[in-house]
Amino acid sequence: MSGEESQLSAEQRRDALKEVFAQAQSCVRCADLAATRKTVVFGAGNADADLMFVGEAPGASEDEQGLPFVGAAGKLLNKLLEEIGLQRADVFICNVLKCHPPGNRDPQPIEIENCREYLYRQVELIQPRVICTLGNFSTKLLREDPTGITRLHGQPEVLAVGRRAVRLYPIFHPAAALYTPRMLETLREDFKRLPEMLALPAPDQPQWLEVPEPAEPEESPAPSGSRAAREPEESLAPSGSGAPSGAGPTAEPVAEVDQLGLF
Ligand code: URA
Repeated sequence: MSGEESQLSAEQRRDALKEVFAQAQSCVRCADLAATRKTVVFGAGNADADLMFVGEAPGASEDEQGLPFVGAAGKLLNKLLEEIGLQRADVFICNVLKCHPPGNRDPQPIEIENCREYLYRQVELIQPRVICTLGNFSTKLLREDPTGITRLHGQPEVLAVGRRAVRLYPIFHPAAALYTPRMLETLREDFKRLPEMLALPAPDQPQWLEVPEPAEPEESPAPSGSRAAREPEESLAPSGSGAPSGAGPTAEPVAEVDQLGLF
């Protein structure tokens, strides 16, 4: 698959995003989380946003309400957005994990891996120019590197998330800044650079090659370790690339909002 999402209108991408949400709603890949969650917190905001925030995992309030960042950290995020002239309806907000880890424990590596496809699909369908990672978990996941947020915050870089090139901008997690005034100051300084980042040209999208279909079906069965033999468990690869999103703070907002919190 390649370039599929670039062919879709904003409305079609929004509808496709709702389908991914429907899949996530019944997800049981992490049996423990599926058993303890109240809701799946898929994400909310502008489904055609230029700016996406990725946090860690829903907390208890988010689990109750089914929406991301509605607790104390969310209130700070709203305030920081307001200070740079944005509202939640301008951006899309989601998390690495879509389910609340009981007791607010850290996401486990297997949970992060299980949930990764949903985030990649969100990126492919929303097509943000800038992804702001909040804290360590999302930064490490999307950079595919263990370097921590203390070293990386405030340093944008262009990289591919799945098949989508984005400007990745790691900043501190608002929850960490809530009780540490110096961290809040740094977070605010980093936040203030977001408008300048959004004004930069959209990153060039990589040209992905079509994977050619085999000319003739193979007679012999695929070897047990081959990709084809493992396909049923691994049919989750992200797909598509496309033109830069035309919406976000500067584009025409889609006024309608649904129960998902999608604009
Ligand atoms: N912290 C997060 O990382 N995500 C939320 O949605 C809320 C708090």
